[in-house]
Amino acid sequence: MKLYAPSTIKELKEKHGFRLSKSLGQNFLTDKNIIDHIIEDSLISQNDLVIEIGPGIGVLTAEAAQVAAKVIAIEIDQGLIPILQETLREYDNVTVVNQDVLKTDLKELIRENHCGGVRIIGNLPYYITTPILMKILEDRVPADSITVMMQKEVADRIKSAPGNKTYGALSVAVQYYCTVEQILSVSREVFIPQPKVDSTVLRMDVRKEHPVELTDEKVFFQCIKAGFEQRRKTLLNSLSGTAGLGKDAIRDILAVAGIDPVRRPETLDLREFAAIANFMVDYTKDHQE
Ligand code: SAM
Repeated sequence: MKLYAPSTIKELKEKHGFRLSKSLGQNFLTDKNIIDHIIEDSLISQNDLVIEIGPGIGVLTAEAAQVAAKVIAIEIDQGLIPILQETLREYDNVTVVNQDVLKTDLKELIRENHCGGVRIIGNLPYYITTPILMKILEDRVPADSITVMMQKEVADRIKSAPGNKTYGALSVAVQYYCTVEQILSVSREVFIPQPKVDSTVLRMDVRKEHPVELTDEKVFFQCIKAGFEQRRKTLLNSLSGTAGLGKDAIRDILAVAGIDPVRRPETLDLREFAAIANFMVDYTKDHQE
């Protein structure tokens, strides 16, 4: 069965009385080259456990099952479960979990199904791309890589560098946890139904070691949040109030870090944010004693 063929999608829908849900971000892939490209660039090896987010009717799942040791596909829509049972019946290494990925304990799932490496893949439901990624990264789900399709604009933000309009808290957060590589640009025309946006596939290789040393990760993320919430302000103004520190303290901290207080947060790289956060922690300690 050519799962990716529009005629198959139509047939399965009719047979199972399935209705596509816009609110669940259901846009199904219909291009075999793109499916193959995603699977190939996910770098799945035969010992790996693959976790797929949002299998739909199973186009990526079926291909992953042929190259991985095991595939666990997490699908929220109950209406797709009988379809997946049919389309994936020849693969005895696939488990479909009917659950919301945001409420799934991925670490537990990985512990229970331990294989060689862990590769997360998916054509993500776009309405929750950022929460899904941040959950995986902040929970430190022990994955080697995350290869996922998302709305082009979100991918542009994730891979962006300092000084760009698209550079923001999401870029710094993801780049702190991962190295990011763009795999593919995907036209809106290869989906059923056609979405209003184009897509990008990124592979995020989870770093074994963080690129900067942090005294307190919480303060680092507070700094980033404060900096980008008011990105048109100077650093001095946007960071005032962070970690309970006033303007004078921030001025001192920026001086010790060697960072010009009139710079805009969007010009700072990961190392500079880390330096500020670490000096904030030192400053707080020094002024408590
Ligand atoms: N992988 C399929 C493909 O490429 O054709 C479907 C991708 S479609 C963009 C996103 C899929 O994610 C849908 O099947 C949708 O039902 C599912 N989904 C949406 N929200 C979800 C959630 N919170 N947890 C798990 N799956 C979800």
